[in-house]
Amino acid sequence: MSNAVKYNRDGGSVTVEAEIAEPKFLRVIVTDTGPGIPAQKQSGLFEPFNRLGREAGDIEGTGIGLTITSQIVELLGGQIDFQSQEGVGSSFWIDIPIAEDLQTGLGEAQISAPVEAEPGPENSSGTVLYVEDNQANLELMKTIIERIPDVELIAVDSAENAIGIARDRIPDLILMDINLPGMNGIEALQALCADHKTKTIPVLALTAAAMPAEIELGKNAGFEEYLTKPIDVPQMLATISAYLGA
Ligand code: MN
Repeated sequence: MSNAVKYNRDGGSVTVEAEIAEPKFLRVIVTDTGPGIPAQKQSGLFEPFNRLGREAGDIEGTGIGLTITSQIVELLGGQIDFQSQEGVGSSFWIDIPIAEDLQTGLGEAQISAPVEAEPGPENSSGTVLYVEDNQANLELMKTIIERIPDVELIAVDSAENAIGIARDRIPDLILMDINLPGMNGIEALQALCADHKTKTIPVLALTAAAMPAEIELGKNAGFEEYLTKPIDVPQMLATISAYLGA
């Protein structure tokens, strides 16, 4: 969308549309009324730092926007593509897989393709305490845990609160962020291990700290497992059911 605005003409327009591309894919299309991309330059479009001759113009840019976008889209399991005609404009679109449990959030009128929800793992029951200060990760974990029958999620946003709740509720599993306001996840693990009421509860780290030195530090701290963000949904489902399963 930023490119569509930048590389446009005076009085031009930008159109954003969304449609179901294939079952389970959402296509978002951004169309501009800019100068278009000459056919002989189109093959270099996703190359980093290739601004197709635009570096001589007065529009600022580094030439990495499309490269980054295409990598993000591919990491999401999607695709990016475009069509362009000189003097008319360009259309860029991304196809991204629709998350099964979140599709109602997009509005039922637009997203009506039925998607069969995978059943969650069976024979799991218990309580998971998730310590996390990031609201988006908490919301994602709620949707993951909802897929496992008979598992209750307790979410807290600080290590200090988590320790008290762990003593009171004795959860079956604790998922611990490391970078937290106040006490961090490693200090919280030490406090849990020092208390006879909580020391047998398995504590897994779930953190964005994914540098080799950080992973080493986390593993040495005594977490049962060290999982890194972004949350891998199938792996998380399998891990939770492995700890809580019959
Ligand atoms: Mn955090």
